[in-house]
Amino acid sequence: MTYAQLAAELAALETRGLRRQRRMLESPQGAHAVVDGRDVIAFCSNNYLGLASDPRLAAAAREGIARYGVGAGASHLILGHMSAHHALEEELARCLGLPRALLFSNGYMANIGIVTALAGRGDAVFGDKLNHASLNDAALLSRADFKRYAHGDMEALARLLEKSRARRKLVVSDAVFSMDGDLAPVPELLRLCELHDAWLVLDDAHGFGVLGAAGGGVLEHYGMVSPRIVYMATLGKAAGVFGAFAAGAPEVIETLVQRARPYIYTTASPPLLAHALLASLGIIRTEGWRRERLAQHVFSLKQQLVTGPWRLLSSETAIQPLVTGSSESALRVAAALAERGLLVPAIRPPTVPRGGSRLRISLSAAHTEDDVNKLVSALNEIGQAA
Ligand SMILES: *Cc1c(COP(=O)(O)O)cnc(C)c1O
Repeated sequence: MTYAQLAAELAALETRGLRRQRRMLESPQGAHAVVDGRDVIAFCSNNYLGLASDPRLAAAAREGIARYGVGAGASHLILGHMSAHHALEEELARCLGLPRALLFSNGYMANIGIVTALAGRGDAVFGDKLNHASLNDAALLSRADFKRYAHGDMEALARLLEKSRARRKLVVSDAVFSMDGDLAPVPELLRLCELHDAWLVLDDAHGFGVLGAAGGGVLEHYGMVSPRIVYMATLGKAAGVFGAFAAGAPEVIETLVQRARPYIYTTASPPLLAHALLASLGIIRTEGWRRERLAQHVFSLKQQLVTGPWRLLSSETAIQPLVTGSSESALRVAAALAERGLLVPAIRPPTVPRGGSRLRISLSAAHTEDDVNKLVSALNEIGQAA
């Protein structure tokens, strides 16, 4: 592999409209932001409740620094497990009504840890085709037999489970699909797992804090509990900080402590984050108006776009994808919006299937009604011109 080969591959990405560009955010994350020197309204973040720049979380982080310093200095199993981490784990378990929770550095690492600790050679992992990349990478890394079923196709999953002779079976699924915004049929997933004696790993990255009356996520939304469910969510999205956790039966969590390599072989996260997250959990639980406001924005966007030239995928969550088809068309619409000071990311392959390029509109409680109306007017204008 020479430099020239890499340069040619990069040039090919460019011509296919697949080269990614980073924008630079010069203000705190929020609905109104300064990006590359310009004031914009952003519909790009996973900051669903508007907590990423909440002054109370910043104050809690400062208090965390005063109390614990900045670095954990060691991994959890050596001497990095600090009282801030421990308090957060206990509070997460209590809020979710699950026996035990375990903190990971981030969601990517949590998924790698959970799947590789629970499945190995001779086992089987079953995953929805639209699952997050981290769940797919985790399944590959586990060396278990990895079977993928068409998005949401419970009959296909049932057939795969029935045929499988694997020692241990693990069904893994996004709870809210990150690029489509739709919910997994969790009750049916659980029924199949019970029928075929499989574990169910649910990745609630986009549901935790958002779904359920108290923000408890997908389990609260469906009113479900089961010792078979290994629940996982990130703390860098609705919770506004950084990190992730797994929660479930004590035996599962203790297995992760003993076997999950991304838990064991890494420095514990800065305790100030755990301390800030404790404050975040309180806000998530008590400030239900944030979820109501977000739901209002979702309703308003969907209702206003129904009559225009664009079609949204059917999603009830903060993730509202507007599929344009080709990468070029997604980029064109995103650029036209950007000219008007509205940032919406164009999502292209390999993140979504070929022909499924889209604008991924993310709404947040931080948006105002006026922000949403501006986006609708701009989309209608661009749609008419096209
Ligand atoms: C964002 C995301 C992750 C990764 O979480 P991080 O904490 O950002 O590493 C995992 N799964 C899904 C579905 C996600 O959307």
